[in-house]
Amino acid sequence: MKSWLSSHQLILSEQYNNATLPHAILISGVSGSGKLELAQWLVQLLNCKQPSQSVESKEVILQACGHCKSCLLLNSNTFPDHLNLIAQKNSLGIDDVRHANSFLQKTAYLGQFKTVLIENAQTMTQAAMNALLKTLEEPSDNSIIILLTNDIEILLPTIISRCRVLNIRPAVGKDLILQLKEQDRKNGEVSAEAHSLSSDPFVNLTQLPELTDAAINEAFKVFKECYIGYLCYQQGESQLLQYLLNNEHALRWLEQITVNLHRDYFLDKIDNEHKNTLNAELLNNLYKVIINGCKVIKSYTQANKQFVCEQLIMAISDVVEQSKVEANCNASV
Ligand SMILES: [Zn+2]
Repeated sequence: MKSWLSSHQLILSEQYNNATLPHAILISGVSGSGKLELAQWLVQLLNCKQPSQSVESKEVILQACGHCKSCLLLNSNTFPDHLNLIAQKNSLGIDDVRHANSFLQKTAYLGQFKTVLIENAQTMTQAAMNALLKTLEEPSDNSIIILLTNDIEILLPTIISRCRVLNIRPAVGKDLILQLKEQDRKNGEVSAEAHSLSSDPFVNLTQLPELTDAAINEAFKVFKECYIGYLCYQQGESQLLQYLLNNEHALRWLEQITVNLHRDYFLDKIDNEHKNTLNAELLNNLYKVIINGCKVIKSYTQANKQFVCEQLIMAISDVVEQSKVEANCNASV
């Protein structure tokens, strides 16, 4: 379990013990922050027949036992009192939500609760959100709905206001290392995660919390290489476009990498082979173009995203070309 989730586990455990758990819980956080991990822990706890307690300095975090009938059925995805609502296509439609609503109406077969987990809640259609709203307004007894989202702004405010919102903020930078060390101290061991992260330069990038996830961190490195390759050698245009269209982080990465390159330029830390291309003026102009592009893209619907991303890449290309022309003029004077 990621170290920054334990504060949420503590609160939820206490609410479980006091029977004060909210009927609807909205877990919000970037990819890699551990939303699903936390939600699955809670679903298992709610449905377990005999949860156990791990007590650490008076703090109690409850855990599912893992071997009662409910735990076994849940682990094999055949538990009748839990429903995982996953988008079949790109979005969750009204029928999906109606299915969840009628599921919650029925009394629990085995456990005390009926639970529904909605991953990627931001993909619900407007009609689906409205259908869910009814259930949130009049929850059936002992039903608990857990929604996960990486983009809370897309959800209807009326949905958000009826949920207990848990914002997952992964620890970054030095805080993360401290937390991992603390966890190791408790466990009496040194985790591989702590070693790899403390030696990782991205641990200092406080603006990009998702990079604490190893797979996303790897994708970031590949994206960075692709972007720099495009700037320096005009290669990989279609790859860059695919990133912008398909990776939810790519736009912010574009912005962040440009800022970091700008800083590296002044610290004289740019690789020799890229020094001629990546000068301060180019990076400055790129930054303006990217900020502007990001604004436009955020204001557009999905249907137009491809067009706007293509425009952004063309604008980046124009800035690079302009910079080359100027360099040639200066060289020939
Ligand atoms: Zn159990």
